[in-house]
Amino acid sequence: MSKTRDDHRSATRAVLAGRREEWTGRVVNTPIWRGSTHLYASEEERQESLKYNEDGHFHYGRRGAPTQWSLAEALTQLEPGADGTMLYPSGTAALAGAMMSVLEPGEVLLVQDNVYEPTRSIASGLLKRWGVEARFFDPADHDAYAAAFDDRTTAVMLETPGSLTMEVPDIPHLSAIAREKGACTLVDNTWATGLGFAALEHGCDISITALTKHAGGHSDVMMGAASAGKKHYAKLRHTAQSLGQCVSPDDAALVSRGLRTMPLRLQQTSTSALKVAQWLQQRSEVAHVLCPMLEGSPGHELWQRDFTGGCGLFSFVLSGHTDAQRSAFVNHLELFGIGYSWGGFESLALPFDAARIRSASAWPLPGWREEDRLGIRLAIGLEDADDLIADLDRAFAAIKHS
Ligand SMILES: *Cc1c(COP(=O)(O)O)cnc(C)c1O
Repeated sequence: MSKTRDDHRSATRAVLAGRREEWTGRVVNTPIWRGSTHLYASEEERQESLKYNEDGHFHYGRRGAPTQWSLAEALTQLEPGADGTMLYPSGTAALAGAMMSVLEPGEVLLVQDNVYEPTRSIASGLLKRWGVEARFFDPADHDAYAAAFDDRTTAVMLETPGSLTMEVPDIPHLSAIAREKGACTLVDNTWATGLGFAALEHGCDISITALTKHAGGHSDVMMGAASAGKKHYAKLRHTAQSLGQCVSPDDAALVSRGLRTMPLRLQQTSTSALKVAQWLQQRSEVAHVLCPMLEGSPGHELWQRDFTGGCGLFSFVLSGHTDAQRSAFVNHLELFGIGYSWGGFESLALPFDAARIRSASAWPLPGWREEDRLGIRLAIGLEDADDLIADLDRAFAAIKHS
């Protein structure tokens, strides 16, 4: 076993997790084991190996080698309540793999209305072709959610906070209702990771993260993971193996390296994000700041109750303004790149149109002015927060008379 103990705090776990001496040998990081064929010492050993389908047993390249096993074990140790983790070539592959592992044709999946857009597409596209019906629900309307279950509903897909608009759903409540109705709960836990939100301990059955974001941490690798207790881990493993999902040892080594500094990066980007969010809150150009860590933001109370951490990702909504002004604002930013993804060391800005990607809940949010609808998502990186604020300030000044 690796040296991680139950009483270790998260930063200590992130340093120790997955580093078994049998895998690392005499170096600190698990070496990169490249391989498709694994050679057996004898025919008897090959026969014996057929009894095992577990990480830690050599079989064939698709089942990984110490580089991937070490990362999967580390992620399991960082997700409280998990017994195992499957790795996928992207976060989206992890979402698709996890949903397919718990659904059969003819069944119904309830999907939180503000999930990551590809999650929505998988549910209403791929899964539909596969004979699964997706029903989208407003996470703030608990009665409508409870009423959406019928005897064909076997799974619920959640995400916290919701993508782009960042509202925090009441996961313990939503997952408890699912359990009562005999359905399992999946959650996209990319934003907080297992370090900031113990998804399985808050009632979820499968916790999915895009490792592309915080774990990778340097915008140079794509990967995803799904972690679960014994029963659901077995389903994840079976489906992932049927789909031939595997990750390269080079990528696994990069993600493992990122994992060691992830708690530090999460802490720093959370602190900077909160500072930037508080500054934005004071600006007349800004109607709403959507940042779970910020007092007054939608879902802040739930974040405070259920989470032990946050990250650098949040959004804000311009007060009025035109599409052209929003584009000009983003174009004037110098420290924020324009691009997808987040969780890297560099800051990013992304304009979004929330109305286009929801069907069961309102945008603008209830009680808001109709003209306050243009959103910008910021991924705060490791630059100095005061430089980022100065950059935003310059961009606001530049569009003032446009
Ligand atoms: C980016 C993202 C994903 C998908 O990860 P990829 O590795 O880019 O496929 C999933 N969920 C959320 C919330 C994300 O932001």
